[in-house]
Amino acid sequence: MSRCRPDFGWVNVFEKSDGKYVYCSRDLASSTDALAESTEEHLVPRSLLEASGVKYDNEHNMAVCCAGCNGLKNEFLPPAGHPCWKSRKSFIKECSRFVAECRLKNFQKYKTHVETVLKKRAGQ
Ligand SMILES: [Zn+2]
Repeated sequence: MSRCRPDFGWVNVFEKSDGKYVYCSRDLASSTDALAESTEEHLVPRSLLEASGVKYDNEHNMAVCCAGCNGLKNEFLPPAGHPCWKSRKSFIKECSRFVAECRLKNFQKYKTHVETVLKKRAGQ
């Protein structure tokens, strides 16, 4: 019986991660919660590679990502011709920048609301 298995499974992805999440660099082993929110990240979105008939579950395309960063990155892809396409490392750096920018935008979006809630709690 043959089973459909990715070329580069979760254990391999985990072992290659250096114990850190790919975009935010948080320590995977810092807590059980940190580990529990781990996801497999396809650096180049799976949907794009699948559509071109390219294998997406390979060592170069897989990484460990926290659920928060994975949600923010979503289907982001740096534009063709961007210098980050030269290496995996620079590609990850560009995606990290994008994720951090999304996180900041979210923070700014909710900042006023959070401040209001905090003032209310403090009785101001
Ligand atoms: Zn993260």
